[in-house]
Amino acid sequence: MSEFDHTPVRGVQFDLVDLPPEGLDLEGTLPAAEIGLEDEERVRYTAPVSYRIHLEPINGGNDLLVRGSVSTELESICDRCERPYGWKIDTNDVCHEFENAFGTTIDLSDGLREDILMAFPQHFLCKEECLGLCPRCGANWNDGPCDCPEDSPQDDPENPWAALDQLAPQK
Ligand SMILES: [Zn+2]
Ligand SMILES: [Zn+2]
Repeated sequence: MSEFDHTPVRGVQFDLVDLPPEGLDLEGTLPAAEIGLEDEERVRYTAPVSYRIHLEPINGGNDLLVRGSVSTELESICDRCERPYGWKIDTNDVCHEFENAFGTTIDLSDGLREDILMAFPQHFLCKEECLGLCPRCGANWNDGPCDCPEDSPQDDPENPWAALDQLAPQK
């Protein structure tokens, strides 16, 4: 083993013995489950997690700064149309500090997992302009309009404009 060989002990755990003053670049991939990212009802991890990080001694060489990027691929169910779609996370917001890190095993699992979870959108949408499902017949409006009648004004008594909408030219 060379002086700066930082092969992970397990997952993204590294025995941090020594670092060159300018730091060290590391990259690798590992299964999402290995850093605690489990498939959920509306999310599935379809690719391993890839990381590219820079380890740098800071604070007089006592502490460690880890910066870099992490990415993975996922499949989700669209909140509007209920269809599965693929998407990616690629964030370069990785930034973690470890105090008195040298001579210890540092574990990046929690940090990288949080970096991935922070990159989740508030809503899963197959596309920004997803048209969703018809509330009456359940047809996917992304495939085209369904045969349901246009909403009549009585359907929405709260909307004073509904009657006017009926007069609007059809698209
Ligand atoms: Zn959708
Ligand atoms: Zn319909």
